[in-house]
Amino acid sequence: MEDAFRFADEFGPLKLIHIYRPSVGLKAVVAIDNIACGPAIGGLRMAPDVTTEEAFRLARAMTFKNAAAGLPHGGAKSVIIADPKMPLRERERLIRAFAAAIGDLAEYIPGPDMGTDELAMGWIKDETGRAVGLPREIGGIPLDEIGATGFGLDSAIDVARQHLGMPLQGARVVIQGFGSVGKHAARFLIEKGALLVAASDTRGTIVDEDGLDVPALIVLKAEGRALHDYPRGRKLGADAVIDVPCEIWIPAARPDVIHAGNVARLHTRLVAEGANIPLTAEAEAALAARDVLVLPDFIANAGGVICAAVEYRGGTESAALALIDEKIRANTEAVLDEVKRTGALPRTAAASLASERVQRAMRTRRWQSGPA
Ligand code: NAD
Repeated sequence: MEDAFRFADEFGPLKLIHIYRPSVGLKAVVAIDNIACGPAIGGLRMAPDVTTEEAFRLARAMTFKNAAAGLPHGGAKSVIIADPKMPLRERERLIRAFAAAIGDLAEYIPGPDMGTDELAMGWIKDETGRAVGLPREIGGIPLDEIGATGFGLDSAIDVARQHLGMPLQGARVVIQGFGSVGKHAARFLIEKGALLVAASDTRGTIVDEDGLDVPALIVLKAEGRALHDYPRGRKLGADAVIDVPCEIWIPAARPDVIHAGNVARLHTRLVAEGANIPLTAEAEAALAARDVLVLPDFIANAGGVICAAVEYRGGTESAALALIDEKIRANTEAVLDEVKRTGALPRTAAASLASERVQRAMRTRRWQSGPA
């Protein structure tokens, strides 16, 4: 009995459900962590090797991410234990079986995650009436196409650079990972007069102190080519993107790319975390000690989840962009004010902002607030 409750603490998890349907080979876990702020939004992951513990941890991260974003949504995560590369018909059968099994879990709204996509969300919506990250034809707002997360990063950076008294005009930007998040962040920042001086992908880094041609790089990547195919600029290895001096450094690729062993190589004034957990705790502390401001991931990269919340309410693309800008600006202000007032690290300030929101919401809910 105790084992089933091994993750239980003051926030949740509210429900931890194992789903097994032998006739279709479905094994799945749904972790609904906390719904005090509202029905929980969280991705459905399809992977062969995800544990119940990971599902719970990812759900907890969503509780705080959604609260930090100021959304009326709690946190959840679900996992289908299977190889996402299976044939399409088999995949549809499995995902529809999963959807049928969660039909009654009205407090959980699935979204896309690793191994699932907008088509999968369409099947789930068809079975249950609930899902976000849908195809455009059935009310979806294509967040990677419109650049929701890159747009939100730009809002967070604008607030932070004002706190630093740093103009955006002429500011040098470096982006690690020129994918959905990175390329749109670049696009929005250069529109405001910043210069993209370096960008990287898995194949390497491209550098031009006079400014790279962002629209040309976007076309290049859309054609499936590498940044190294850009005809101008200097070409370096992928890791060299850390060494290029700049005012704004944006990690938009992988977790843990900056750590105690390489943080001294960063020469910048502001790091805006586009990727999730791109810096280790040691690296964030080392940068704070050098007066480099780090905007934590769950404040700066919340554009995607805010977009999903607008989609859920039937809102439009322009409403999503307006809400992303409003919320990310307000949350960045709140975090930076707290940092100034208390001297806390930005991540600590952001985490306490989020947990206070969840606790305040829990006080309004029956059976949910913890012991006084
Ligand atoms: P993506 O696959 O579109 O782009 C990732 C890019 O990073 C690719 O261009 C790839 O070549 C590059 N890359 C991978 N490893 C690299 C390395 N070691 N060095 C340099 N470049 C490398 O992915 P994305 O959707 O842009 O997401 C990027 C990150 O942001 C991920 O960590 C993701 O979890 C996070 N994130 C994405 C969103 C979103 O809305 N897409 C929202 C929040 C957080």
